[in-house]
Amino acid sequence: MEIFGKNVFNQTVMRERLPKGVFKNLKKTIDEGLPLDPTIADVVATAMKEWAVERGATHFTHWFQPMTGITAEKHDSFLSPTENGALMEFSGKELVKGEPDASSFPSGGLRATFEARGYTAWDCTSPAFLREEADVITLCIPTAFCSYTGEALDKKTPLLRSMEALSKQAVRVLRLFGNTTASRVTSTVGAEQEYFLVDKSFFLKRPDLMMAGRTLFGAMPSKGQELEDHYFGTIKERVLCYMKEVNEELWKLGVTAKTQHNEVAPGQFELAPIFENTNIATDHNQMVMDVLKRIALRHDLVCLLHEKPFAGVNGSGKHNNWSMSSNDGQNLLEPGHTPHENAQFLTFLMATIKAVDTYAGLLRCSCANAGNDHRLGANEAPPAIISIFLGDQLADILDQIVAGKAKSSSANADMKIGVTTLPALPKDATDRNRTSPFAFTGNKFEFRMLGSSFSISGPNIIINTIIADALREFADKLEKSKNFSADLEKLLKETAKKHNRVVFNGNNYSDEWVKEAKKRGLLNIPNTPKALKELVSKESVELFIKHNVFNEKEIHSRYEIMVEQYVKTLNIEALTMIDMANHSIIPTAIEYATTVASSISAVAAVSSKLNVSTQKELLEELSTKLASASSNVKALEKALESALNIADIEKQAAAFREKVFTKMLDLRADSDALEKIIAAKYWPLPTYGEMLFIL
Ligand code: ADP
Ligand code: MG
Repeated sequence: MEIFGKNVFNQTVMRERLPKGVFKNLKKTIDEGLPLDPTIADVVATAMKEWAVERGATHFTHWFQPMTGITAEKHDSFLSPTENGALMEFSGKELVKGEPDASSFPSGGLRATFEARGYTAWDCTSPAFLREEADVITLCIPTAFCSYTGEALDKKTPLLRSMEALSKQAVRVLRLFGNTTASRVTSTVGAEQEYFLVDKSFFLKRPDLMMAGRTLFGAMPSKGQELEDHYFGTIKERVLCYMKEVNEELWKLGVTAKTQHNEVAPGQFELAPIFENTNIATDHNQMVMDVLKRIALRHDLVCLLHEKPFAGVNGSGKHNNWSMSSNDGQNLLEPGHTPHENAQFLTFLMATIKAVDTYAGLLRCSCANAGNDHRLGANEAPPAIISIFLGDQLADILDQIVAGKAKSSSANADMKIGVTTLPALPKDATDRNRTSPFAFTGNKFEFRMLGSSFSISGPNIIINTIIADALREFADKLEKSKNFSADLEKLLKETAKKHNRVVFNGNNYSDEWVKEAKKRGLLNIPNTPKALKELVSKESVELFIKHNVFNEKEIHSRYEIMVEQYVKTLNIEALTMIDMANHSIIPTAIEYATTVASSISAVAAVSSKLNVSTQKELLEELSTKLASASSNVKALEKALESALNIADIEKQAAAFREKVFTKMLDLRADSDALEKIIAAKYWPLPTYGEMLFIL
């Protein structure tokens, strides 16, 4: 395809434009994760600039991912004045390092203002690209962002560190199986992105969508998603045209947008790319979210990435398909053909099970934010309890390992778990379980708890690190072994016995599972303020330090930022509700009530015999709901004020969840009840019916 990668300074372009030696040198850095040779930076910079300028770029930017979860940039032109005019220049120094300062990003205390300088550093493992907006073309250079003192201020640095940690431990385990060819193991990710589209004219009339990204009011229309007629249905022409442009834009950026379809809720859609290494997949998912939003505007649509834009229909998530692949070409979660391959597969599988069970709290925490609180635990997304779906056959093998009498799943013959005696495992025998938060899907795991607006960096930092730690423990034990087969068998048996409890193949949405999970001692963390605490537990801090993913300061800074973000989000939502209630909903109800009241007197004036009972009933209902709305606005204002007065941020977050949030629900109930009885022509907001069904 001609346009694929057209806007990417990829290896093909580099091979064409760089001197052979420089290209080889750079490729080694990219492929093997070696430090960049500083002497080649100037040559690469010049080639990159020439390529970009030929394509019409005038500016470049270091493109980075601060802890806001979105991307940031500061544009500089290539312009360099000379005696008789100006040149377009770009040096190796400018490529490798930037000083955007950028002191207003949240740093969670990592940057005191007197040393506020922040640096960006080129990540040559993720290719530079051109972004086209109207006729403005900008060279974007993926970078890491850190403080003057070297602490990571972003979401990329710790992700790269976690990939490094995983690679190191996974290679150790591969060596134990006699592998001498693999020198790196990379985690791979395919992130399926869900989103909603609404007509822009409706969006502009909804302060809640504009300020909070979700509707804070809105009565359910007579039809929701119950007929399941939207899911995988024919895609409407307007949406198809939008998707076509999104795909083209993404393909130019080298993003492998592959599948698209209508999702469960009306107005909801999904886009999935082909998987790639986690660092690039993370950058690409940021581009996907950016392109989805930008292109929507060209079609007079607005793309909503919020986890729960509309109550009463499904929210949006992001399925994070995850595996590990070695640079000698193996997918380490692919069941093999030989007993030897299968022992290796079971080892990596068991490490994953152990990691997920041991650090379930951290995984839960990695998917916590105010938006996702509306999904996790509701019957549309995985519950807040972390468990693993393995499929019946693999789960059976696990049970047999625990029982110590493993049988071949096919032949039913006795089997030992030694490296040489494991029989062939069922391939692709896993059935689908859509309710599981962490599901094995044949040759990868699908982590399904992520929210649609998330940077996938956070959850993948956690997955990489916890699995690195399980592999480390395996390697530590087995490297000392004198009888590998026997000791491996023993290790797998012990691990299966201990962590089998996290495996659950049934319906995760059922009440029985909540009870069963409790019996098994599994965590069930209901909301964000509680989940975030997992990040700073003693075990978590130790884990991150051990694998050089975060130092103690970095981890606490993230905690602080996430709690703060939660509080800020709820504060904005509460303020928006108060504003909408006071400025449009209550005045509308008063206006309508006045009209109804005047109609009663007008009708009565004509003849006292005329029946005005309908009007009277309506007026009474209106007055009751209006009074309730009015008192609940005041209650919300009060709850908000007292929450804002709490100095301790952790207690403040809890107050927002327990006091402010509940008052928001009360006010919404009043407004939705009013919406149902107020004449359509008076209602000041586009309705759910309009927003969900008019596209
Ligand atoms: P499914 O039918 O299970 O949804 P797909 O083949 O459609 O499977 O894959 C869903 C997502 O998983 C896609 O983004 C795909 O690229 C990704 N994926 C497939 N294999 C891997 C892998 N080894 N590692 C990470 N992601 C993968
Ligand atoms: Mg999926």
